[in-house]
Amino acid sequence: MRKVRVVVIGSGPAGLTAALYTARAQLSTVVITGMQLGGQIATTHDVDNFPGFPDGVQGPELADKMQKQAERFGAEMVYDLVTEVDFTQGSPFTVKTQNETFLADSVIVTIGASPRRLWIPGEAEFTGRGVSWCATCDGFFFRGKDIVVIGGGDSALQEAIFLTKFGKTVTIIHRRDTLRASMALQTRAFANEKISFIYDTVVEEIKGADNLVNSIVLKNVKTGAVSEFKTDGVFIFIGYDPNSSVFGGQIDTDAAGYVMVNDRMQTNVEGVFAGGEIHDDVFRQAITAAGEGCAAALMSINWLGEREGLGLLQTLDETPELAITG
Ligand code: NAP
Repeated sequence: MRKVRVVVIGSGPAGLTAALYTARAQLSTVVITGMQLGGQIATTHDVDNFPGFPDGVQGPELADKMQKQAERFGAEMVYDLVTEVDFTQGSPFTVKTQNETFLADSVIVTIGASPRRLWIPGEAEFTGRGVSWCATCDGFFFRGKDIVVIGGGDSALQEAIFLTKFGKTVTIIHRRDTLRASMALQTRAFANEKISFIYDTVVEEIKGADNLVNSIVLKNVKTGAVSEFKTDGVFIFIGYDPNSSVFGGQIDTDAAGYVMVNDRMQTNVEGVFAGGEIHDDVFRQAITAAGEGCAAALMSINWLGEREGLGLLQTLDETPELAITG
């Protein structure tokens, strides 16, 4: 068992920002990275809307810079998955990973959300063989091929536009006749001659031969008509679900599983804070996640300081409207 001051669960923009702040406040900080250091942003290509990068930045590069910045102040990345936590006894909290157990005075939960699955026949079977949730990772394998993108939100359109760099055609299949994506992305997608749309349609099955996708079965939800559509690749962008199951009900969530926090990023467990997409199902931006990670870290630092009479975070102590009371 290893004792640390702060364990950050998750390594997306929220987690890496939180770690930067706690490490810089001289608190020993371990970041349990999960499967993908950088989280969702590391699987995103062009990030145009993160301030400070006037020409945009690639997602993996942004994640890399955030990691290095947190490490500069001493944060330690642990490339592992959290398997279990024990928050029932209060601080110090137990956080178990596949290989290690940590005892942390404070925990910051930034474990994010995972891409949704369709749960249709063929989806699991052809994952990595034509079915993908990451255009940045897999787009290259579909050079000159016919690709479908499922979904009608910002992710679907943004990734479809990116996939036109590789694919011969990109067909967006959406279950309604109105897109959820922003007007800016709709305008760009409509103007792209490689992109076409199939509306009011769901995918019922993914089929293939020789271990590769070769078609999908479509159903028009208005007419009920079922048809087969030839394609080489299926990219699924139908939203995200919060990764809160690992907490086993020990921190309060809403009905959809998003961790609930007060306006100081504190969960129902004193000393456990949360930020980013594990909590935020509204803004879901890298910059808002980073902001929430910062706020959660400041509150963690302040909570530890108050508890130990150390006044670690002078700025908060000196700012009455931000001081925690009660
Ligand atoms: P989203 O906004 O929740 O959209 C999910 C899309 O998938 C919707 O069109 C939805 O259809 C469809 N869908 C959901 N479940 C489905 C199912 N079982 N079968 C078929 N279709 C299904 O998710 P997102 O596009 O991943 O975006 C998530 C958040 O990130 C949003 O807040 C978005 O604004 C943000 N984001 C922003 C950017 C950007 O700023 N450039 C880029 C990516 C994401 P309905 O429309 O019928 O519900």
